[in-house]
Amino acid sequence: MKTSCVIKFRNGDLRLLRERLLEDLSHEYFAILLGKRRNIGGKTIITIHDIKIPGNRDYNGQSVASLNIKKGFVHQALGELTNRSDVDTMIDVHTHPFSRKHVGFSGVDDGDEKRFFRFLKEKFDNIHYASIVFSQGEYSAILWSLKKRQILPEKAVIKTQISSEQILSSDRLTKRGQKCVS
Ligand SMILES: [Zn+2]
Repeated sequence: MKTSCVIKFRNGDLRLLRERLLEDLSHEYFAILLGKRRNIGGKTIITIHDIKIPGNRDYNGQSVASLNIKKGFVHQALGELTNRSDVDTMIDVHTHPFSRKHVGFSGVDDGDEKRFFRFLKEKFDNIHYASIVFSQGEYSAILWSLKKRQILPEKAVIKTQISSEQILSSDRLTKRGQKCVS
């Protein structure tokens, strides 16, 4: 896959995140990451600075194939994002614990994320948005961008500092990987 959108985790963070979200495979879990975006040599790189893991009370509901997070949790993260100067990107993360390997965003995921991205673009300047979905062993990641008023989901790759933390992208075999236009 040819891509130039990268989501970079600091040492141990991807392992920690996956351990927390995939500990219980009977329900989907959710997290919000705060990151900083940079453009370097034609590449868009988002470095993760902070991981927000909701508690049980932050969910309206959870099942093996769905979840519903309370708005308050998202708004709190968004408030922090807009008040901090070291971060400018919200990355939402959820699990598909029923999938062992291959994982992809569902139609519902895409719809929800597009709606949220539109909301972000209407309300805030310069806040970027990405999403990650984990199966038990792989991931798929998207960076959302707006070009000529059209929402473009662009495939992204995750990079870790230590190779033993790295997991496979389920998009690694897709040929339509494209360059970041954002
Ligand atoms: Zn999903």
